[in-house]
Amino acid sequence: MQIPGLIDPVPVARALPARADGRTAVVGLTRPELVAALVDAGIDARQAKMRASQVWHWVYHRGIVDFAAMANIAKETRALLAERFVVGRPEVAQAQVSADGTRKWLLRFADGNEAETVFIPDADRGTLCVSSQVGCTLNCRFCHTGTMALVRNLTPGEIVGQVMLARDALGEWPSALEGRQLTNIVMMGMGEPLYNFEAVKAALGIVMDATGLGLSKRRITLSTSGVVPLMARAGDEIGVNLAVSLHAVTKAVRDEIVPINKRYGIDELLAACAAYPGANNARRITFEYVMLKDKNDSDADARELVRLIRHYRLPAKVNLIPFNPWPGSAYECSTPERIARFSDIVFQGGISAPVRRPRGRDIMAACGQLKSASEKLSRADLDRRAAAKEAGWSAAA
Ligand code: SAH
Ligand code: SF4
Repeated sequence: MQIPGLIDPVPVARALPARADGRTAVVGLTRPELVAALVDAGIDARQAKMRASQVWHWVYHRGIVDFAAMANIAKETRALLAERFVVGRPEVAQAQVSADGTRKWLLRFADGNEAETVFIPDADRGTLCVSSQVGCTLNCRFCHTGTMALVRNLTPGEIVGQVMLARDALGEWPSALEGRQLTNIVMMGMGEPLYNFEAVKAALGIVMDATGLGLSKRRITLSTSGVVPLMARAGDEIGVNLAVSLHAVTKAVRDEIVPINKRYGIDELLAACAAYPGANNARRITFEYVMLKDKNDSDADARELVRLIRHYRLPAKVNLIPFNPWPGSAYECSTPERIARFSDIVFQGGISAPVRRPRGRDIMAACGQLKSASEKLSRADLDRRAAAKEAGWSAAA
């Protein structure tokens, strides 16, 4: 599987995931892929579309994992399906619940790699924070995920599987259930979603399908650290809300804490935000800004943030995220007074800038703390990796 890093991500055709037992996993197939897979398995081509709709309904609307329970499908066909396909869920290596109700699942995939999913309940909504990669190639200096040694893209099935698993755990089948807890999805778990564009696009297409999981694109947010060349495609082809991990307003500081800035600078990034398809005052772009003591939290930084947002005429809101420390992290969180002052300045500039309440800290489920138990890289290793990447970026430029 391709992990873009030294080069810009290029779309690659997706091979259907192969399982050791030779069966095909249904979860993660797009509708046309499911139809083709059914024909391949010997289902009459004239019936395949209808069969696909039936299977889709049982799997994504009803949450059924056993073909035998798919009552409106003929018995022999069910047997054939069971022989050739599997529905399934990711394996849960660990499940934790925080004192504040936040839940975290550590998932283990067939190859032994792990990724995390977090559910954050609130009074009026419930947000599932979904991972797009195992680890992340981008090495933002304040982010725990960026320290993971292993990185691979998740498949569409592994991404959709996170949503299915949360629905199971919350007891929220069928999908149309009134008053469901899981109302929103944010692609803010482990990984950079735009470095796994095709899989994220396929997965979110499945999640948004009205006859299945049925989450509206208005309730889904994709967060990027600023992969500028793919932002317009994300708007056009996926169409969900956009969040951008800005975190700094000067080149020097953003280069240090979000190294992709050396490749795509602040001006290029904000111009891409201004051009983001579908952004308007009713659907604003969220700028995430992690509050790091004495690094990016001065009054001048806040004023510059307002200036930039105005300069690019961005329909924007700012999310101020108190830095969540992790063992070995190089920064400290700004003081509550500093964060309040920063927020005031941005508010006075006419831009909403709420402070995000840290959730699930006791189970290491908060923003940027996600990291599975795999080997931790030393700071020196990380610096080497970042230097190699940057050398690649300048070579490619
Ligand atoms: N790779 C994507 C999405 C995953 S990170 C991105 O960077 O946007 C989700 C959010 O958590 C990002 O805004 C990220 O910058 C933030 N984050 C990472 N580490 C953090 C930490 N230690 N404390 C607070 N926020 C953090
Ligand atoms: Fe990757 Fe996002 Fe963490 Fe940066 S903040 S290392 S892009 S997951």
